[in-house]
Amino acid sequence: MKPIYLDYNSTTTMSQAVIAKVNEVSQYPFNSSATHSLGRKANGIIDEAKAKINEFLNCKNYEIIFTSSATESTNTIFFGSDFSQIIISDIEHSSVYNCRPPHLKVSEISCLENGVVNIDDFIKKIPQNKENFLVSVMACNNETGAIQPVEEIAKITHQNLGLFHCDIVQAVGKIAVDLEKLNVDYASISAHKINGPQGIGALLIRKGLDFRPLIYGGKQQKSKRAGSLNIAGIAGFGEACALAQKNLDDFQKISILRDYLEENLQKITHNNIKIFASNTPRLVNTCFYAIPNISNQTQLINFDLNNICVSAGASCSSGTISQSRVLKAMNVANDFLDGAIRVSLSPQTTKNEIDYFIKIFNEFYQRTKK
Ligand code: PLP
Repeated sequence: MKPIYLDYNSTTTMSQAVIAKVNEVSQYPFNSSATHSLGRKANGIIDEAKAKINEFLNCKNYEIIFTSSATESTNTIFFGSDFSQIIISDIEHSSVYNCRPPHLKVSEISCLENGVVNIDDFIKKIPQNKENFLVSVMACNNETGAIQPVEEIAKITHQNLGLFHCDIVQAVGKIAVDLEKLNVDYASISAHKINGPQGIGALLIRKGLDFRPLIYGGKQQKSKRAGSLNIAGIAGFGEACALAQKNLDDFQKISILRDYLEENLQKITHNNIKIFASNTPRLVNTCFYAIPNISNQTQLINFDLNNICVSAGASCSSGTISQSRVLKAMNVANDFLDGAIRVSLSPQTTKNEIDYFIKIFNEFYQRTKK
């Protein structure tokens, strides 16, 4: 039996059109540095992918630097710029949260109990001298799905002469993302979260802004990121962006299944359950819940034995389960901290799959409730 996969915020399946594109491009020995016809063709493929990314994110005024991942994109800016201070939120993904160049002061903005970044606290963290600071706040949280007020944060940052980086990894393909409108200076994006290939991402950087490369070597990408480009990955990334753009409205329909799931979880537990960020705008595919005093480890084992793939948020990223830093930042009570499970759906998720999840959850809950 194929696993029931409900962990789409972690990674997605490559769509058929993306696989076809990657396969087609993989038939050729493309190197964009070559001066022969195949080199020119490779550059054409890169341009085509960039055009699709531009169309998807409205980012004509941004340079697109291809990287291996959003993690690399963020590291490039944090390590490669001469800021004297970085201000991040305390709910950032570890690719931002743990990216702390030793010479830099890093301050953290707290969040509210609903999982939204606290703007008042952000204003307090802005350095008095307004000198040379970078603010980095994610567009949507990967665990709770809470949509963050990044347009407002970018505005306040600029009014105070800082620059703004946004991790848009979980937002793209799920809500409309317009870089011009958000007015971000830098953004990190990853293909594998939007049905694209793994191992390819991009750094989007407002034209005119400069940075030191993270990776030195050849003159690829105007020496800003050395190394032969992943042409098949880039082609697949472009295709994934075009599809995500086309399917954005359809994506919103997932809320019907997600809400159905949550209503059932509430019924089974007689409301003895917390659904995080449910009282604030959040991604329609994400349900992050906790039941008190039933550990997520026990739940995960039970789901796994029943062929269901879910996660305990990002906290199990190293294969071990610890309490979620995001939930702690939201001041979640201890009883609930250990019992948190993230279920994340996709347009491919069926009602049968959700019914099966509900059945397994119910059997488990009746066995273990105290
Ligand atoms: N930012 C967020 C919000 C994420 O969810 C992830 C992946 O889990 C990343 C960044 C890292 O992306 P990548 O796997 O491309 O490094």
